[in-house]
Amino acid sequence: MRVTSFGSGSSGNALLIQTEGPAGTTSVLIDAGIPVRRLRAGLAAAGVPDDGLDAILVSHEHHDHISALPRLVRYQRCPIFATSGTMRALDIAPSDRWERLVPEHSCRIGSLTITPISVPHDAAEPVGFYVDDGTVRAAIFTDLGSTAALVRDPVAQAHLVILEANYDVEMLERGPYPARLKRRIRSGHGHLSNAECGDFLADTLGSTTVDIWLAHLSENNNRPKLAEQTVVQRLGTGLGGPRVQPMPRHRPFVWDAPSALQRPRQLGFLLP
Ligand SMILES: [Zn+2]
Ligand SMILES: [Zn+2]
Repeated sequence: MRVTSFGSGSSGNALLIQTEGPAGTTSVLIDAGIPVRRLRAGLAAAGVPDDGLDAILVSHEHHDHISALPRLVRYQRCPIFATSGTMRALDIAPSDRWERLVPEHSCRIGSLTITPISVPHDAAEPVGFYVDDGTVRAAIFTDLGSTAALVRDPVAQAHLVILEANYDVEMLERGPYPARLKRRIRSGHGHLSNAECGDFLADTLGSTTVDIWLAHLSENNNRPKLAEQTVVQRLGTGLGGPRVQPMPRHRPFVWDAPSALQRPRQLGFLLP
């Protein structure tokens, strides 16, 4: 499995999952919230030409996850998957092109088994995703106000965990946002803070996870280094634990399962 992020944050999200199977490569895009020109260029660089995607999955209807969709569908004629709530919110009727995702029900796309998982977020019927290619598993949860019980198992079983670390509590408090927006972000249906992300991972992770990507960092209320430090500190695993990396806002970011899984675990102590 190979996972490529083309962007993460309120300025736009798009994530490509690719895996090799007996029938060739399966390529699935999760969300299409970055400018279509950048998205097409990113897909082409990852080896996915126009009409090369097997499916587009939509997590929820917020602009930063769907803004490129109306134009992207002219270049990628694959089916688009979304929950009925998301389709209603986008004013789309199920058709040949749109297929319905049912939360907590797995679907098979090429060599991938994909399970949409309900998340608490202020959208119509938002989901995160658990993706399994038979050997390697990824859990992708980018917009959630709290860590619902349903999110726990997918995160515990994934080799790559992509989890939101949206804001630093103090930066949000001191920052320029109006009180109502601060309340929305902090609420159980808003976004996860760095500390919430770290505490949840510390409670949940077993020995399977090798990489953690911190997703959807706020430009105003967070800093990549601060998010990383907070999560690493809460995880408390030091050098022996999974690698924690903040996702770049605009730059492509790649996870390659074979090299990630073969990477020697760092020693839990420092040699003199
Ligand atoms: Zn978002
Ligand atoms: Zn959202």
